[in-house]
Amino acid sequence: MKNRNLLMIPGPVEFDPEVLSALGSPTTSHVAANFIEIFAQSLEQMREVFLCPDGQPFILAGSGTLAMDSAGTNLVEQGDRVLVVNTGYFSDRFGQILERYGARVTQITSPLGGRPGLDEVEQALKIADYKLVTITHVDTSTGVLNDVRSLAALSHRYGSMVVVDGVCSVAGEEFRMAEWNIDLALTASQKAIGVPPGLALLVARPQALATFRSRKSPVMNYYADWGNWLSIMESYIERRPAYFATPAVNLIAALKVSLTQILKEGMPARFKRHQKISQACKAGITALGLSQIPLKPEYAANTMTAPRYPKRLAGADFLAKVQNEGVILAGGLLPSIRTEYFRIGHMGAVTIGDVLTTLAAIENALGSCGYPIELGVGVSAATKNYYSA
Ligand code: PMP
Repeated sequence: MKNRNLLMIPGPVEFDPEVLSALGSPTTSHVAANFIEIFAQSLEQMREVFLCPDGQPFILAGSGTLAMDSAGTNLVEQGDRVLVVNTGYFSDRFGQILERYGARVTQITSPLGGRPGLDEVEQALKIADYKLVTITHVDTSTGVLNDVRSLAALSHRYGSMVVVDGVCSVAGEEFRMAEWNIDLALTASQKAIGVPPGLALLVARPQALATFRSRKSPVMNYYADWGNWLSIMESYIERRPAYFATPAVNLIAALKVSLTQILKEGMPARFKRHQKISQACKAGITALGLSQIPLKPEYAANTMTAPRYPKRLAGADFLAKVQNEGVILAGGLLPSIRTEYFRIGHMGAVTIGDVLTTLAAIENALGSCGYPIELGVGVSAATKNYYSA
């Protein structure tokens, strides 16, 4: 029997063996010529993956929360107004981070599983001048997808910069940073980027950099201060050695491999693959009679699925049974409904085979929890959706 589980949570995800083997290559000096080349190419490839030729990429050792911290500490000064388009737990977190750096935060919320509409956001933008609007592209706690393109166009009409938390979206969901006029986008390595946890990735466009450069007060976070990092990133791109704080050498070697794979697949093909796999997964879940947290299909992410448990089903017992079948899923995250739903991640190197295996494990676990089910119904619906679409 293979001693391996299938990791189907919304990050970290299953990683490609070539990426994992790059992690195990001998660690070089962070100023060695071969590493400088790897770092430089990774920065250049980030521009292509974010579809942002005019962006300044940053690669930092840290998780997605550090990337959010970096956005907050560099762009916000005491008293600045920020509008958070809130779709769940990670939007709440962004608000807390921005408040920590002195912002006056207005949260625009919607009922659970919904997303603030353009008209509501416009009402808020009319009332006050916001320096920034933050958008969580996919909130991993709800599986809700925001319409980043329209929200960004609207925010710019009112003179606000746009910051996108793309931790659960970049390299999975369609995301066109320059074309959609996003000023700052951030992600982390462990999701659709396809590299084990440990890298915070950001791309800043000229307006974000100009805002940083015209600050009147010092950046409050020492490690995340772009003043420390900009010259380092520029040096690496110019193939010159530089040091501020030791980069995560092996993770960056793995990043280079993963970004190369992503670009080989091509961004449009990658977006399409995520959409197809997501639709198949959701067709399977629906065929099993389970509803989902997002209130409408167009609100639902392509990188994950958030099904509700059937009534009276014990979630912890169900998840343990799925794991017995060799598939690991995530429980709920949003505190108010934590025990009412579970989460399936399908991004990065995921295949339709992974989703079918997951659905089979879900069916079996539902059956053994006493939920009336005909085995194969979910797998069949997903297969038909995928192969006939
Ligand atoms: N934003 C979103 C949308 C996320 O999904 C996550 C992680 N699940 C984060 C931010 C925070 O990232 P990390 O856990 O890597 O700090």
